[in-house]
Amino acid sequence: MMMSRNISKLTTYALRFSKFTSLWVRFGNGSNTASKSIEDEGLCSQMRWYGTCFAKLPEEVPKDDNPVSQMLVDSFGRLHTYLRISLTERCNLRCHYCMPSEGVDLTPKPQLLSQDEILRLANLFIGSGVSKIRLTGGEPTVRKDIEDICLRLSNMKGLKTLAMTTNGIVLATKLPRLRQCGLTSLNISLDTLVPAKFEFMTRRKGHHRVLDSINTAIELGYNPVKVNCVVMRGFNDDEICDFVELTREKPVNIRFIEFMPFDGNVWNVKKLVPYAEMYDRVVKQFPSLKRLQDHPTETAKNFKIDGHQGAVSFITSMTEHFCAGCNRLRLLADGNFKVCLFGPSEVSLRDPLRSGADDDELREIIEAAVKRKKASHAGMFDLAKTANRPMIHIGG
Ligand code: SAM
Ligand code: SF4
Repeated sequence: MMMSRNISKLTTYALRFSKFTSLWVRFGNGSNTASKSIEDEGLCSQMRWYGTCFAKLPEEVPKDDNPVSQMLVDSFGRLHTYLRISLTERCNLRCHYCMPSEGVDLTPKPQLLSQDEILRLANLFIGSGVSKIRLTGGEPTVRKDIEDICLRLSNMKGLKTLAMTTNGIVLATKLPRLRQCGLTSLNISLDTLVPAKFEFMTRRKGHHRVLDSINTAIELGYNPVKVNCVVMRGFNDDEICDFVELTREKPVNIRFIEFMPFDGNVWNVKKLVPYAEMYDRVVKQFPSLKRLQDHPTETAKNFKIDGHQGAVSFITSMTEHFCAGCNRLRLLADGNFKVCLFGPSEVSLRDPLRSGADDDELREIIEAAVKRKKASHAGMFDLAKTANRPMIHIGG
C-alpha cells in the first residue's frame, strides 16, 4: 500500500519534470565516460565505508599554458586555480537556509565592484594561474550586464572553464545568449520537486521556471547539468530517492549538499542529514550505486547507477570536509577577498584598487592572504558559533 503510494508519487513528479522537456540528451558523451568506477580500478580501499575516498593533494602540475604563480600557492602547497566571483548581493528568492528572515543589509552600490573592476581583478587572477571561474551571488542572473561579463571573461586567455551557479528563476530565456558568451558549465539549485514546498523554502513562486531552466540547459547541450539540492531533515529528506530517480532518464548530476551554518540561517544539527545517512538511503533503493574516481580537488563525492544517464553526488562539507584538496578562492561583490568559505577573515581588494594600487601591489595583498589560509576549517559545531557572513553575501 505504502509502496504503491510512493511509486505513484514518484511517477507524478517524473511526469511533471519531463513535461518541461522535449529533448533528452545522453549523459556521458563528454568527460564523464572517461570516469571509471573506483571499485573497478581497485583504487580506493575505503569504498565500503560509505563510499568514501580521501582527497589527495594535486600531484600533477597544471598545464604550462597557464602556469600557477606563487601568489596562488598556500603554505600547505595547495594550488588555487579556481576563483568564485559573487556578482551581486541581491536575489529574486529568499531561501531560508541562505537569506536571514530579516533580510540582509545591502552594500550601497558605489561600494560594490563595477564590471571593469571585476574584470581587472579576474584578469590578474587568470594571469597568475586561475583556470576556472564560477559566477555566483546572490543571484548572478539579476545583473543586467551578466552577458557582457561572461563574454569579457571567456575571452581572457588562460581561462578554461566559465561556470555559473544560479537559482534558475530567469535563466531559461537568458541561457542561449549566455552560452554564446562563453558560459561553459552550469549548476542550477533546486531543493524540492514539490511546488508548494519550493514556495515555502524560497518564500517565492517559480518552481516551474527552475524546471524549465534545467530542461533548457539540457536542450542546449550542457552536460551534465548539475542540480544543487540542500538536504534538510523534515523538509526534503523524503525526496532524496525521487531526485535520484530523475538521473535515470536525464543527463543531470544531482548534488546533495549537507546543510551548512551561516549567519542568520538558524542552523541546527537536527536539520542536518549527514552524508552517511543520505548514502544509505540511496544505496538501499539503488544497489548498483558506484563511486567514481574523483579529481583530487573535487568537493563532491560522485556516483553512478547502472543504466542511469545522470549521476549522483554528495557534498559533505559538514561530516567529511575536503580541505586537503581545496583549490578555491572567493571574490565577493563588495571586493572583499576570502580564502575559505567558512573562514571569517577577509581582505579588501577594492580599496587598494581604488587607491591606485598597481597589479604587483594587488598580487602582494592576494598572496599574503593565500599564505595565511589554514589547513582546514573548524568542525561543524564550532562553525555554527563562528561569525561569518550570511551565505547570500558569500555565494557558496
Ligand atoms: N542564487 C544562486 C543559487 O541559489 O544557486 C547562487 C548563490 S547560492 C548562495 C549558491 C549555492 O549555495 C546554492 O546551490 C545554494 O543552494 C547553496 N547554499 C546556500 N545556503 C546554503 C547552506 N546553508 N547550506 C548548504 N548550501 C547552501
Ligand atoms: Fe538566493 Fe541562491 Fe540564496 Fe536562494 S540560495 S536566497 S536563490 S542566493
